[in-house]
Amino acid sequence: MFKLNNKVAIVTGSGSPKGIGRNIALTLAKQGASIVVADLNVEGIEDTVRAVEEAGSKALGIELNVTSKESVDAMIEQVLAEFGRIDILVNNAGISQKVTVEDMTLEDITKVFNVNMFGLFLCTQAVLKPMKEQQFGRIVSLSSVSAKRGGGVFGGAHYSASKAAVLGFSKNLAREIATDGITVNCVAPGLVNTEIWKSLPKDDARKVIDGIPVGRPGETDEIASTIAFLVSDEASYITGEEIDINGGSHM
Ligand code: NAD
Repeated sequence: MFKLNNKVAIVTGSGSPKGIGRNIALTLAKQGASIVVADLNVEGIEDTVRAVEEAGSKALGIELNVTSKESVDAMIEQVLAEFGRIDILVNNAGISQKVTVEDMTLEDITKVFNVNMFGLFLCTQAVLKPMKEQQFGRIVSLSSVSAKRGGGVFGGAHYSASKAAVLGFSKNLAREIATDGITVNCVAPGLVNTEIWKSLPKDDARKVIDGIPVGRPGETDEIASTIAFLVSDEASYITGEEIDINGGSHM
């Protein structure tokens, strides 16, 4: 695919055993990048670290809470001490909650924004200095189809709003740092074949599939391969872009 030799990539939320982040970490590792596996989930981190090493790349596991500036700063310090550079940040850590606006509390919406938007801000801001010094960087953030057409069976309006915020934030930042060799892009997956999909009752699953022209959920590979392109040297002229990966469910 795309060569990422000598590149160092941080993938937040890459400790979820069946999640998108783990596949992103493995895919970038297979292209030659060293991977920082950063997550709240310590057991999951160890698992992904092992998989990255088995794929032949270096891995550094770090317990990270994206909502804490101290935790984010400590991670950056550790990564720079270990590798001396940060080339790629994939903002993948995210949470959702199924709740109607009528039942939503201020606590609910704050919790979702804290991870999906403010945590993404902290991680993104923290890599800017090293990336600017290198005059090279690739930042890719996970938005969602629900930012554009509402969340359906999985997430609440707070989730959709946080993922829409990610798009606006990324486009603004892309302009701010466009001359520094740093690109900022988003991917917006539709439904992906992860745990949440598998847990869906059959009738609900059928309704969801009926709304996807391709007739199936996406695979984590299909998200990771798009990200592997966006972080490559070959994608140097793509910035401020969002790529929909949704089997046609939103065109
Ligand atoms: P997942 O729940 O499997 O993985 C998310 C990971 O983020 C977990 O390992 C979790 O521990 C970690 N995390 C949560 N809060 C954190 C925090 N405060 N600090 C650090 N790590 C934290 O989710 P997934 O389905 O693999 O989704 C990954 C990303 O893709 C999310 O941003 C999600 O919103 C987005 N997305 C998923 C789908 C889908 O269908 N699964 C669709 C569109 C977008």
